[in-house]
Amino acid sequence: MAAAALLASCAKQDTQPDNAVAEPPADARTEQLKRQRDAVTGFFKPMKVLDGDWLQTQSEPGETFEQYIASGPTLPTDQRRTIYIQPIGNFTGEQRKAIRLTAEYMRAFYSLPVKLLADRGLGKVPADLKRKAGYPSRDQIRTQYFLDDVLPKMLKDDAAALIAFTNYDLYPGDTWSFVFGQASLEKRVGVWSLYRMDDIILEADNPKDRLLFRTLKIAMHETGHMFSMRHCTKYECLMSGTNHLLETDRRPVDNCPECMAKLAWAMNYEPAERYEKLAAFWERQRNGDLAGEFRRKAEVVRAVK
Ligand SMILES: [Zn+2]
Ligand SMILES: [Zn+2]
Repeated sequence: MAAAALLASCAKQDTQPDNAVAEPPADARTEQLKRQRDAVTGFFKPMKVLDGDWLQTQSEPGETFEQYIASGPTLPTDQRRTIYIQPIGNFTGEQRKAIRLTAEYMRAFYSLPVKLLADRGLGKVPADLKRKAGYPSRDQIRTQYFLDDVLPKMLKDDAAALIAFTNYDLYPGDTWSFVFGQASLEKRVGVWSLYRMDDIILEADNPKDRLLFRTLKIAMHETGHMFSMRHCTKYECLMSGTNHLLETDRRPVDNCPECMAKLAWAMNYEPAERYEKLAAFWERQRNGDLAGEFRRKAEVVRAVK
């Protein structure tokens, strides 16, 4: 069986409608966001595609801020604004910490209410939705169990999205060896596994807290899809597709200028305030480099009139 390290939810890109549509009418808010977008471009690197990367295997057009607005994206509403995070399984202390911090980061990143729910057990998985894999043998759970059975029943009326984290290894179908995660945009639910997030990859210049960095990036990326954001191809961006953990490791913990403007427009927040919240998060993690970078971004967008 070929190693299928794709995020299954990312593989659905071409089923989305063609976004080559006319530019939406300009208003004062979108015009200011465009200027703020243009002001932070210097913080981001243009996309560079290496061997084995996502863009070597997928042909994607990317998506500008203007195209996103014109696409009629799924947005949070007054009634549905909360992102719920549900841990399912038995976690190590480090995994639990990564989930808690991911919830905190998400609150700043999307500027929406985020509720971290109490842990739940896996429940009784039907025999056709699990299998044995690997050596030593372990249970792998089919993503369908979470997406069709467990999560829809738990979805609250005020949920913009319900995201489950599990420590079990996942697979989306018999021909796949595993998957990191999968989402159902129609059902507003998704599941991601921490099982492989701590894998050591020797070529990577991994930070020592790679579990946290990878969990953060994958959770922010997949939540972006839940708000109809497509993969980025212009910059190295948190919303760019990834084929493997090494590529995930190379991506920044922020999204690019185009995606920043999309989020600010979709969630109706001030970019400077969001950057300040992200800086404060990295200060609490004692990461001065990232805190400083987000503070500088905040200053730059605040100076835009
Ligand atoms: Zn994706
Ligand atoms: Zn982007």
